[in-house]
Amino acid sequence: MTPPSHTEDGLSGPTDSGKRLLLGLRRGFRRKCPNCGHGLAFGGYLKLRPACDVCSHPIGEYRCDDAPPYFTIFLVGHIVVPGVLMMEQTIKPSLWMQMSIWLPATVLLCLGFLPFIKGAVLGTQWAMRIKG
Ligand SMILES: [Zn+2]
Repeated sequence: MTPPSHTEDGLSGPTDSGKRLLLGLRRGFRRKCPNCGHGLAFGGYLKLRPACDVCSHPIGEYRCDDAPPYFTIFLVGHIVVPGVLMMEQTIKPSLWMQMSIWLPATVLLCLGFLPFIKGAVLGTQWAMRIKG
């Protein structure tokens, strides 16, 4: 019987895939390198670094594409739509009042969540070894 092969993070085999996913998500939400958890994954607001400064993991090879905006819109929609409906049912504000509250809130929530969700998608890709 051969011993399981270990990666640099100490996780191995199919039983560790759940732990690896949680580790990748946690590191990604913190916008850190999913491989080591110490280096920065982002060189700007949304731009991935070509490689980690600490472990040299090729972060730039991961392609998040449309997944981060999709999950961001999904999350923000589940916050804003109930808010709009609740406000409409309770205090019945005018349309311009609703628009002046919820349009900026939508933009700010999207801009606030997007980098962290992109980090989580990056961590998920790292956990599942999806590149390119
Ligand atoms: Zn690293």
